[in-house]
Amino acid sequence: MQSNDRGTEVGDRLASCVSDDVSDAALDDAVAHAHRRYAARRTRSRELADEARRWLPGGNTRSVLDFAPFPFRVAAVDGPYLVDVDGHRYLDLLGNYTAGLLGHRPAETERVLKEAAETGVSVGAMTSVETDAARLICERYASIEQVRITNSGTEANLMAISTMRHHTGRSKVIACRGAYHGGLLYFGDGGAGLLAPYDWVLADFNDTASVEDVFAAHGASIAGVIVEPMLGAAGCIPPEPGFLETVRRLCSANSSLLVFDEVMTSRLALGGAQELLDVVPDMTTLGKYVAGGFNFGAFGGNAEIMGAYDPSRGGALSHSGTFNNNPLTIAGVAATLGFTLTEELLARVNGLGDRLRRRLSEIFASVDVPLSVTGLGSMMNIHGTERTPRTVDDVAVGDDRWKALLFFHLLEAGFYIARRGFISLSADIAEAHVDAFADAVAAWAAEPTVVA
Ligand code: PMP
Repeated sequence: MQSNDRGTEVGDRLASCVSDDVSDAALDDAVAHAHRRYAARRTRSRELADEARRWLPGGNTRSVLDFAPFPFRVAAVDGPYLVDVDGHRYLDLLGNYTAGLLGHRPAETERVLKEAAETGVSVGAMTSVETDAARLICERYASIEQVRITNSGTEANLMAISTMRHHTGRSKVIACRGAYHGGLLYFGDGGAGLLAPYDWVLADFNDTASVEDVFAAHGASIAGVIVEPMLGAAGCIPPEPGFLETVRRLCSANSSLLVFDEVMTSRLALGGAQELLDVVPDMTTLGKYVAGGFNFGAFGGNAEIMGAYDPSRGGALSHSGTFNNNPLTIAGVAATLGFTLTEELLARVNGLGDRLRRRLSEIFASVDVPLSVTGLGSMMNIHGTERTPRTVDDVAVGDDRWKALLFFHLLEAGFYIARRGFISLSADIAEAHVDAFADAVAAWAAEPTVVA
């Protein structure tokens, strides 16, 4: 049987039984068909994926970008669109997992990068630009009086955790089950084998009792808590009222430090999620978009905590890193925070996100397909659950196959989101894009066949 004929058959069956219980076999068939159809239209991407497997384990050097049957390969960007090597064009609603907030080719970043490259790309000495970049960071985020720059968000979080252990002289670190704080700091499936060997104690996001229990059991040995103000990679789960406030209170009461990982969430307001949610941590980590899409990470806190890095104050900690003051990164930070990332831009992008999430929620509420959406502002995640998740366990019970069907439908319709349902809007995205995307989701959800 030809794959298209078979697709029509499977699609029809799925459409006709969606309001009842769709059988496992029908869903499996539909996903298998979507894979075949995707692959048949992307022969060049498949060749490149096969070649990549020879040199990169799994053909990949960034696990989050992998999906079955193989990820398409990008040939070019065109404004907000990605163009793949087989000639397909996709509106990019993934926004490089939040790092692409300024868009694919932010003009101001390109300009300062060129200028910086002319001054020198490899300089083992200091410039005044790094002071400008640091000042701009400190001026923006209430919890950061002094800052140190790193190469990635992972590194920033490792530094922040080690700093809080040094500052408190305690060993235990609380993190949330399922949370992602970097390649060596992942508390979900597949993370344990690479987890940095700190003395971890896990609690549950949005479960204040679980944090209270951990403090009751270990209070005097807890260096601090690392938490995202909204869980990002774990499914864009916003904090319920009182959760972060309780964590803040428990940290203060036990002389433990609170680190907010704002690698993703700092885009939610000019002063980050800590400003939006009105909870101020002791330390904050940053990453992603802050250097205009360029490699970046940073950790900071008050001058007393960060003074541990100041040799003139008898600081005990030496933090070197060849690329900490990389001229291109530093120029990217100064341009992003100095000119590009204004309050107006953030309000526009986050407002568009709120609009999109409202529409998606309405769509999912009005059809029989078990999908829901969570998030804040420009960050959101579509889930394979009928009930809107409020915990990582709620996310885990979702049926991934519905998300797969939506994902492959959207690719055929010219929209790119994360395979796991994550969306982050960039400055390249306009209201008409968001509405066209919601229309595409609505059209599919009304009749979720696998055939476009
Ligand atoms: N923290 C959070 C919340 C993140 O989302 C990420 C990256 N997705 C990181 C840390 C790690 O940042 P990087 O990829 O730059 O190491």
